Amino acid sequence: MSISKWKIKGIVDDFTECGCCGRRGLKRTVAMMPLDADGNEDGTAEDVVYYGTSCAAQALGWSHSRVTDAARAARAQRKESDSFARRMISIYAPLEFAPARDKIRVFYGRNQGLRGKGLKATEEVAQLLSRARATLADTMVSPARPSRIEDFRPFAVIFTRDERIHLVQPLPLGRAEREKASGPLLRCVEQIRGKLTIVAALDAESARDVAYADDLTREYNTQAWHALHG
Ligand SMILES: [Zn+2]
Repeated sequence: MSISKWKIKGIVDDFTECGCCGRRGLKRTVAMMPLDADGNEDGTAEDVVYYGTSCAAQALGWSHSRVTDAARAARAQRKESDSFARRMISIYAPLEFAPARDKIRVFYGRNQGLRGKGLKATEEVAQLLSRARATLADTMVSPARPSRIEDFRPFAVIFTRDERIHLVQPLPLGRAEREKASGPLLRCVEQIRGKLTIVAALDAESARDVAYADDLTREYNTQAWHALHG
């Protein structure tokens, strides 16, 4: 085999057969992308191989523990980029078809430091969204993750009096169940004399971001949610 170098892309729990020696029933495999002579990733998702840790160690010329460390680091990194992608979609997807002036306001509101750098906010937003969607559609180490506005779920976010997030709680999709869930939430709001906001987002982490965002972002978020769920 001419390929001598690989980059570890992550650990996969679903693939339990080593693509190198064919051993089956492994607890997990290591996903590796071939590198070209210059050390750049040389291929697409189809070129990724899934090796057991021993074979991966042999292919890389690494110790077993170095392989597991690298695989763990890759997994953590993917988790982080997935989470970033969900936040970007939760913030910007509802704004995707908004007038340019609204995108500009939201984008520069969130990225004050980029003002006057000659960026086109509308293009930046489009790029952020397409990168985020590609991240969540990447099936190299796990099945595709939800990434559409249709996948947004409602979250109750309770702020304390000094504008800190006290609680983020997913709400049921059905209106009746949602109303039932609101009783305890309203009592909590009363108790801490806080404020309740309902936002729609891909996960709780993104819900926090949306809740903390500017009024315009939250307006579009609410509109998108109502457009889908009435
Ligand atoms: Zn093997």
